[in-house]
Amino acid sequence: MSRLKNDSPDPAGQPSFAGLRPSPPPAFACARCGACCAHQAIQLNPWEVWRLARRLGQATGEFIARHTDNAGLFLRFGPDGRCGFLTPTGCAVHPARPLACRLYPLGLEADSAGQEVFTPLPRHPQCQGGASPALAGAALAAYLAGQGAGPWLAAQRAYVVLARELEAGLAGLEPPARRRAEGELLGDGREPGLWQDLDRVGEPGMNDPAAALSGHAARLRRWLAGWRAGAKRKDAYF
Ligand code: SF4
Ligand code: SF4
Repeated sequence: MSRLKNDSPDPAGQPSFAGLRPSPPPAFACARCGACCAHQAIQLNPWEVWRLARRLGQATGEFIARHTDNAGLFLRFGPDGRCGFLTPTGCAVHPARPLACRLYPLGLEADSAGQEVFTPLPRHPQCQGGASPALAGAALAAYLAGQGAGPWLAAQRAYVVLARELEAGLAGLEPPARRRAEGELLGDGREPGLWQDLDRVGEPGMNDPAAALSGHAARLRRWLAGWRAGAKRKDAYF
């Protein structure tokens, strides 16, 4: 029997076509070019605000005023469309960057059953990161681990649960009380409420991330219980 030229056998005696197989695309590795750090809307949860504020040595109220829009709900981008933290050498807050920055070019959504679903986002035309990360399985887990996304995902999940609890709890109040409570919680669009401004609810000097998250959630739950019990002054519950 003749063989094709250059088709040499592998150690198991089978012909090898390894050189003819398409190479797998390179795994995603951000080149940190910063191209995707412009013209975005990056939503922040309260713990992300807290992490960024502490990275800069600020209280959350100061950070919200200086670096966010909608009173702490979105990272502020400049008039040129670029994130305020983008510098010629990269992200100035890289260790504390928000979850959205860690996941890109993946997005995270909830399906109709409330389950997390990772989705591919449109890539910036200049993105040189290689093939997009996998959407599931071990490859996704490795990508998330490489981005240090674990604590940020945990915080996001905690705030989704907390938001549902607060929404359901406030829905049971009489309309006038509910309006006042929602104003305290969310602010007025210019001034942050207790949701966004973690240091107003927690301890301003605290620097422990896990304690900040659990403390914020616990105090907002106490605040809700106060409203449900007919309290008029939130201060009694912090
Ligand atoms: S926080 Fe950092 S990574 Fe995120 S958009 Fe701004 S510069 Fe880019
Ligand atoms: S455009 Fe791509 S390579 Fe550049 S910073 Fe964003 S993710 Fe990284």
